[in-house]
Amino acid sequence: MSHMADCIVIGSGVIGCATALRLQREGHSVLLLDAERPGAGASFGNAGMAGPNAVVPMATPGFWRQLPALLFGDRKSVIVRPHALPAALRWLRISLKMANEAQMLHSRDGLHALHHQAIEGWRELLDEEAWTRLLRPGSTVSRHQSTSAEAVMTSLAIRLRAQVGVATRILSPATISRCFTELDADGSIFTAVDHTAAVRDPAALLETLRQHFIAAGGRWQRYRAERLVLNDGLIHSVTGDGGRLSAQHYVLAAGHASSSLLPAGNLHVPLIAERGYHIMLERSRPLFNDSPQDGLTPCVLHDASHKCVITEMSGGIRVSGFAEYAHPGSPARRDCYDRLERYFRQRFPRYPRVRLSQWYGHRPSTPDSLPYIDRHPAAANLICAFGHGHYGMSGAPATARRVSDLFASADDSAAQSPFSLRRFTDE
Ligand SMILES: Cc1cc2nc3c(=O)[nH]c(=O)nc-3n(C[C@H](O)[C@H](O)[C@H](O)COP(=O)(O)OP(=O)(O)OC[C@H]3O[C@@H](n4cnc5c(N)ncnc54)[C@H](O)[C@@H]3O)c2cc1C
Repeated sequence: MSHMADCIVIGSGVIGCATALRLQREGHSVLLLDAERPGAGASFGNAGMAGPNAVVPMATPGFWRQLPALLFGDRKSVIVRPHALPAALRWLRISLKMANEAQMLHSRDGLHALHHQAIEGWRELLDEEAWTRLLRPGSTVSRHQSTSAEAVMTSLAIRLRAQVGVATRILSPATISRCFTELDADGSIFTAVDHTAAVRDPAALLETLRQHFIAAGGRWQRYRAERLVLNDGLIHSVTGDGGRLSAQHYVLAAGHASSSLLPAGNLHVPLIAERGYHIMLERSRPLFNDSPQDGLTPCVLHDASHKCVITEMSGGIRVSGFAEYAHPGSPARRDCYDRLERYFRQRFPRYPRVRLSQWYGHRPSTPDSLPYIDRHPAAANLICAFGHGHYGMSGAPATARRVSDLFASADDSAAQSPFSLRRFTDE
């Protein structure tokens, strides 16, 4: 069988596209595959936040105490569907093991290593025209349902960020009303983290990465991978709905579907499809003030208490949220869309609401919030790059760089890294 390419990348979400582009530019001949149109998965429907502030893991020491508020009541943001209860309970058990101080700091450091240059990473991957068109640099503004600035500034998330040099500042009510003229601030506390960015159109970002990849000589093919064929410690080929394909190297970047493609073996690689929702509303007038106010240009409005995000995108206003444990094939909960719209109405009561579309998709989540970026221990020519959970838009450029480093070195150093595939097996 002849090799079709040096490298086959499975999955053209943000991780697969960024990785394929980087490898192709470095002189490899890459074939990028996807079962659907490019960017059909989580990379299409996310809230678009990117930046070095993405260092807070989901499981933290007080996690179990927060569970009732996350699952029930006005601000609930986590949903467990009855059919998914056994899997969710198994997941909860592993997540609770991660909810300790040492693990939280380990996850924070791993996320920091991946995200601290997220903005520079995107600039490097995209050309100047695409960067300006697709990313909106500015500050991530967070709303906290609290009346005490001191309580907010000493909260765990803000402390974790400060420890890695990501500063948060309190915003005055005057600054907030100048930045968001129609916002009902409701006496809440608002903070800002600077030097972040929002993706203006995730679908266009994905398509641009794919076009850059093709312009660099790469090939993209619609192909549903079904199995990676392992022989004598190497992946020999991939089989799927387009026949058998082979290459010298393989990168598995199929998001939440990646674990079903891993070669069978003794590795324990926990990964769950964590469903998130968004609605798109018509942008009848600007929601965020685009010109700097008191040194602040907001690019995204994040609600730290309700876990919702409002992003002004090219195609409208996106309101995103929820972490739902449901089988990926099960239908959406319509009330999630309505709750996102109600949330928007509370924040911007006078803004017209014309719903353009609604969407749900699945984050590829791991118990420690760190992705797997590693060479497979039983298949020397297979590199895995999946499990980016809530942070794939921040982590894609550095993931591509790490995959390229793994390509360049035959050693096994990644086994010690926070992104090791073996980290749950060796326990
Ligand atoms: C509501 C929501 C909001 C979010 N907000 C943010 C945010 O603000 N900032 C942030 O950084 N992250 C955010 N995320 C998370 C982020 O979107 C993900 O971490 C990221 O998109 C994961 O990218 P991926 O390429 O690994 O997976 P995906 O985007 O899911 O891509 C995987 C690709 O693999 C393909 N595939 C699957 N199986 C096969 C197969 N067998 N053969 C071939 N191809 C296959 C799929 O079709 C898909 O195109 C959010 C996610 C959601 C759901």
